[in-house]
Amino acid sequence: MNDLGRIFPLNTLVLPQSSKTCVVYVMSRDQRAHDNYALLEAYKTARELNVPFAVIFCLHHGSSNRAREHYQWMLEGLKELEQELDLMNIPFMLLVGKPSETLLGIAHHLKPAAIFFDFNPLKGPVMMQKNIADNVDCPVYVVDTHNIVPTWEVSDKQEFAARTIRPKIQKLLNKYIDEPQHLVKQELKWPGKVKKIAEMEELIDKLLASIPSNSQDLVFASGEKAGQKALKRFITHGLQGYEAERNDPSLEHLSELSPYLHFGQLSRLRAFIDVEHAAQHDHTLRKDADAFIEELNVRSALSDNYCYFNNHYDSLDGAADWARKTLASHADDKREHNYTLRQLEDGTTEDQAWNAAQHQLTQHGKMHGYMRMYWAKKILEWSPAKPVNDKTASKDSCFNPIHDELSKSCGAEWAIKVAIALNDFYSIDGGDPNGYVGILWSIAGLHDRAWFGRPIFGSIRYMNYNGLKRKFNITSYIEKHNG
Ligand SMILES: Cc1cc2nc3c(=O)[nH]c(=O)nc-3n(C[C@H](O)[C@H](O)[C@H](O)COP(=O)(O)OP(=O)(O)OC[C@H]3O[C@@H](n4cnc5c(N)ncnc54)[C@H](O)[C@@H]3O)c2cc1C
Repeated sequence: MNDLGRIFPLNTLVLPQSSKTCVVYVMSRDQRAHDNYALLEAYKTARELNVPFAVIFCLHHGSSNRAREHYQWMLEGLKELEQELDLMNIPFMLLVGKPSETLLGIAHHLKPAAIFFDFNPLKGPVMMQKNIADNVDCPVYVVDTHNIVPTWEVSDKQEFAARTIRPKIQKLLNKYIDEPQHLVKQELKWPGKVKKIAEMEELIDKLLASIPSNSQDLVFASGEKAGQKALKRFITHGLQGYEAERNDPSLEHLSELSPYLHFGQLSRLRAFIDVEHAAQHDHTLRKDADAFIEELNVRSALSDNYCYFNNHYDSLDGAADWARKTLASHADDKREHNYTLRQLEDGTTEDQAWNAAQHQLTQHGKMHGYMRMYWAKKILEWSPAKPVNDKTASKDSCFNPIHDELSKSCGAEWAIKVAIALNDFYSIDGGDPNGYVGILWSIAGLHDRAWFGRPIFGSIRYMNYNGLKRKFNITSYIEKHNG
């Protein structure tokens, strides 16, 4: 197993030769029992030391702008995961509280021989993991089991664009395309009782009640099994034609795998192996498989690369100099429309295609990938040229946590904040590096090149309604979601 490059030590402590305690894996971004190298590696270490092994998960709302329904969806998956791990005699410990404090507390109590984390390039998890590593007296490791080729192996710097990261990934791909081992049943018994999720309902309900609701009734089933089913369904019914039809919002010919990939209920490596396998058996699927793998492997790796190397992934400061300059030189351009936060959240602008995209997002928890670009670019087009104190957002609005920041910003900075707030609160795959990068790509030219000059956009790539009309049956998309 070529797993060594997947593991990154977070402190300089070394594994003891022997231990009488345990090894733990703090699961976060990769919520699955199978195809999970962080779990496999932590479990292997426990077996080598002959100590018991457990999986810990810390539930907390904190500063994230995710809606209650997304936590409920995730918890459904965690309940299934608890059962799956139970079959392997591996305890699953759900903890409720601020991750740094809660995990330091449990580390103090358990005195593990080693702690393993899964990898997330976003600021919160990176800081939390470093804090734990600096304040415990055992080795702490992070394992990239989210990307096919680990982020730190692909490149040691922020990559310029897909064309610069692609060859670096290709070069290492063979080393990392290996079938993950199966979990084996744990023989050692965990000392002490571990509370089941079902026994913690009161505490969980109290936490959920404190999180704002977005009133979504999500149609995607949650969990690792549902993720694997969705992958099978895509390979059998959706892969053929993906390359030609994926961009057409009226056809909805996408994999719909992002909820499972985002929560790690499905591994990118599993999706890669199974899609590649299908294409090797049926050569007519080759170009569809290549197009899918480009998104699954290259585009998402580019997102993780960017967030790993650039702390400003959620603001205009993360954009390239040329993009900031061109946006600044058009900051005072006249706006044809200005919408209130309420109009944006409710999807009641004069642009029917934008409203349809917004309704798809708020009602179904996911927007078509092509419309996401159009949607974010329009928010820039409608951004105020000067700060406005807009008090229209309702009490339950996704804008409440950032209302003061919004009333002090304008232009592209405002548009980025608005797009992130809407995306994270309403999209089941939100709060993801792919989201921050998609928003900066649309509004601030990240990973893109300069185009012809336009009002407001400067040389940031522009999209308009006529383009949608020319390329697709946009009326059918509008009728479907505005109906
Ligand atoms: C403004 C904007 C916001 C976005 N927000 C998110 C988000 O919150 N979460 C999210 O996962 N993606 C986001 N994306 C990227 C992309 O639109 C989604 O990954 C895709 O629509 C998910 O649907 P799917 O799984 O059916 O896609 P498919 O086309 O079937 O793609 C399969 C997988 O490849 C990856 N992928 C596809 N497109 C991209 C891309 N452009 N960049 C990086 N990875 C990609 C995703 O993991 C996706 O699940 C955003 C893009 C834009 C322009």
